[in-house]
This record gives sequence, structure tokens and C-alpha cells, in this order.
Amino acid sequence: MYIKISAVAVTLIQVVGFAQATTSTVSASKSTVSTLSKPQDYWKSFNSLVDPLNITIAAIPQTTSNDPSVECTYYEPPSNFKYNAKEWPNLWETATSNGMANTSEFQALYNAIDWSKAPKIDVRKLNTDGSINMTGYDQNTDPDCWWSASTCTKPKLEGVNEDIYTCPEPQTWGLTYDDGPNCSHNAFYDYLEAEKIKASMFYIGSNVVNWPYGAQRGQKAGHHIADHTWSHQLMTTLTNTEVLAELYYTQKAIKMVTGVTPIHWRPAFGDVDDRVRWIATQLGLTTILWDLDTDDWAAGTSETLESVQKTYEDFIAMGTNGTFKNSGQIVLTHEIDNTTMTLAMEFLPKIRAAYKNVIDVATCMNITNPYHESTVTIAPFNASAASSPAAAAASSADAVHSAAASVTSGAASDATSKDGSKAAVSAAAAVDSVSTSAGIQVSSNSLLMAFFAAAAAYLFSKLM
Ligand SMILES: [Zn+2]
Repeated sequence: MYIKISAVAVTLIQVVGFAQATTSTVSASKSTVSTLSKPQDYWKSFNSLVDPLNITIAAIPQTTSNDPSVECTYYEPPSNFKYNAKEWPNLWETATSNGMANTSEFQALYNAIDWSKAPKIDVRKLNTDGSINMTGYDQNTDPDCWWSASTCTKPKLEGVNEDIYTCPEPQTWGLTYDDGPNCSHNAFYDYLEAEKIKASMFYIGSNVVNWPYGAQRGQKAGHHIADHTWSHQLMTTLTNTEVLAELYYTQKAIKMVTGVTPIHWRPAFGDVDDRVRWIATQLGLTTILWDLDTDDWAAGTSETLESVQKTYEDFIAMGTNGTFKNSGQIVLTHEIDNTTMTLAMEFLPKIRAAYKNVIDVATCMNITNPYHESTVTIAPFNASAASSPAAAAASSADAVHSAAASVTSGAASDATSKDGSKAAVSAAAAVDSVSTSAGIQVSSNSLLMAFFAAAAAYLFSKLM
């Protein structure tokens, strides 16, 4: 075992300051919850004005251009989601900010949770250099199933949802993109749509309310939408209240903007332990991690573009060299900037030629209802496609199409998932990334800059 240390990528698009569009006439984000009989019912009180099966994206330069500077210019939010800063945590700050731990809806949720059952696991501390302090934690016995310490994915606590970290089906590439919706993603989303490729999209709450058309496009295209926290922090270093708020307000943001409430989430940097998992479970959320990491976010910063391309090539080769003959994988990639999205478009044709299935995680796990609502379902995994002999590139693409997720209306199907078979590869580097976007409401540039300065200094250590 050795310790790998990587720096977190920082992508900062500074198109802020001019856009103080915080006024609104109608708010879709108001909730009327005051009591909750059980915490898992929280999503029933979200009053979204968005029909997830009938989303219209306004044709404005930001939604039609492929020029990032145009795409990332502030726009008036859609009429079915009027952002009112007073009703949300501050963008890119802990989700308890702006008084959000004291709202009646949050209090109702908090009080519905039986905290006496919460695991007594310490809130982790940061070292002065920003890395997690693991002093005193036994990484070998790993009592808390702390992924950052051990890549543990099977909770040691009863009643906690077990992580998904790999696709069980053979020759399957689980396609996941973190940190969106990115304001400059039009070309990438156009590509995915043209190629009928569906991915799991892990959206950051701050980005969702900041770039609502971006999130709506993800839902409209039938991608598997999941929660990636409000402010993208190391979750094990946050208090119970903060963890709950990071997840809750992102769930709310995704519901308000897209009309669905996810049942899956991914921790920033993969930093999760049984305390954080337990809180996520209270919200009906299951953790999705990965077993292959491209480190694409680091291309051009702490890693060369060539080294990330080599990593992609290596993972692609695994599709034909027998590595995934009996199982699949989930790859960590990002919607963080033009570099990562260009890499995705560069390699997806090769990925599809090398793998039988290139699909979102809900599909690969045969989870046909990946949202709390029953309005949107995803087609089941196409078992016949999966069991046929290794296909040539052309028929492989057909298999992908038939197995890919599609949005359909109607009642929820059985949402049982297959047990994840053991991954053929060990968990890879634990480094996720940090992004930001042009701001609807960034009241303090200095605060944001301080946040990213801290993130830039951040070093993440883990055993592998
Ligand atoms: Zn991330």
C-alpha cells in the first residue's frame, strides 16, 4: 500500500459581480412543511412547478451557443423556477448558511430524525494544509467504513444503505459526470443527446440554482440525475446538521428545477463514512462511488493532459483485454470544464467500441425508478444485450442504445437492484474536484476567492 497525494483541481470562471439578480416575483422554492411524521417523507412537501416529462428549455444564447463566455453569462431564470436568494443557502457556502438550519422545513426534517440512533462517530478534522487528519484512526480495522481511509463501501452499521461503486454487468462502463450542471456544457450535452448516450449526472446544488436550464436539460435528456451536495465539501468534516443541510437543500434544488428528487448521491472527494451514510439514508439516499478514476479534472494542472489521455486509453483497453469479462465498472469523470468535457467527447467513441454497455449507473444497476417520485422511470437493463457474445463495435453501439436509459411516464417499476459483483479492479484515487460557475448571486467575491484559495491548497491523502 502507498499513499497517494493529489491536489484538487480548481476551475474558477470569474463572471461574477454584475449579476445580482436576486429579486423575483414568484418563488417555487417555498415549502410549507412544518411537521414530518417520518424523515423519508420530506420530498413530498417540495412544491416544484416543473413537469419533468415536459420540460421546455428557452432558446436563449446561453442555452444555444457553444461559446463558453456566452453560455456562462447570467440569465433570467425560467418562469417555473424563480431563484430567490433569501430562500436558499448562500452559493458555495455550507448549506446551513443564510439561516437555512433554522427554517421551519429544515427544523421539521431535523426533528423527525431519531438522532439517538445516529452513529457516534467523530466529525473529522482538517490539517492546516487542508488534508483530512486521520491521526488516531485505525485504517486497517476501519471501524467507521470511512472510504477516504480504506475505500470501504460496505457499511459496518445496520440500517445504512450500502454504497454502489461498480456496475455488475460484464463489459459495462458506468458513465458518471460530476460537478455539473456546468454553464458551458452545451456542446457536450448536444453530443450525448445526438449519440443517445445516458449518464449519471451528479449535480452540485449551488450550480443547479445558478444554472437552472443546465439542470433542466439534464433531466429533459433522460440522464440519471443525482445529488452532489450543496457546496462540495469534505462531508466527514461537517457536523450532522451541516451534512443534512448539504444533502437536503441540494435535493430541494434538484426537485424545484427538474421536477424529480434523487435517490442517489455522491460525496465530494468520495469522503463518506457511516455517520454521513446514516444521515443520507434518512433522506432515502444511497451513495454512489466509483472503482476507476480518470483524474480528468487534473488535466493541465497537477497532471498533464497526456497522462489523463493515457489513463482513458488504459481503461478503454480493459474493455477488450478480459479485465471486465465477468463484471463492469464505474468511472469517475467530470463535467467541470471544457477540458474534461472535450476529453469525454474525444474518448466516448472508443469507449463504446470497447465496451458492450456504456450506460448510467441506474441502468446498469437495473434501478428503474431512480427518483422518489414515480413520474420518471428508466428502462431496465437489457439482459439479452448483456449476455450476448462480445460484439463488434457497430452492434455494441446498438446494444448500448437498447440498454440506455429512457424517460417514460407511468407508474414506478420494481426498483430492485442487483448485487454488485466484485470489481476486477481496486478503488482508484479518491480525488474529486471543485468547480464554480458564473454567479446569479455571488455577493462576496472575496469569500468565494477565499474558498477556492483554500481548495487550491487542499491535499488529499489516502491509502490504496
Ligand atoms: Zn465533485
